Amino acid sequence: MYLRGQCFCSSVQFEIVQMKALAQTLCHCESCRRSHSTASLACMTFPIKLEDGKSADSEGKLRIVKGEDKLKLYHHTPNSYSRRYLCKECGAHVFNSIPGMGMVTTFPTVFGGAVDFKPDFHVNYGEKIFAVRDGLPKYKGFMGSERLDDDGQPIAV
Ligand SMILES: [Zn+2]
Ligand SMILES: [Zn+2]
Repeated sequence: MYLRGQCFCSSVQFEIVQMKALAQTLCHCESCRRSHSTASLACMTFPIKLEDGKSADSEGKLRIVKGEDKLKLYHHTPNSYSRRYLCKECGAHVFNSIPGMGMVTTFPTVFGGAVDFKPDFHVNYGEKIFAVRDGLPKYKGFMGSERLDDDGQPIAV
């Protein structure tokens, strides 16, 4: 069973095998905020290793099904470990790949309501530009880093 994801203009479409995400998060890091022009980003991370320049992973978990020629692979810096895939036509991001960690992060918005997104926690809350008072766990950096409260203050755990 595959889920179909697509960019804003539908030129780029991909399929991802339906599985439980490793994590569903709200990311507040500057990279997510600036690259997506959003105050925080809803993310779903999956254990998929997608190498640069490939249209599918070797285990059949993800494949580009339309618009491979419209897909732009963006490296923010030569050393960026995260590869950002976006549509050349509409500019929307479809997913990020971190081949070195065997992970792909995509966004519930690309599935057009077909996924039931429920964030597990917030990450990079130390970089937030607004407070979210939802009571969910909040990490200063990535998962496992220092815990913060809803106001961004350190809490003892
Ligand atoms: Zn597009
Ligand atoms: Zn981020």
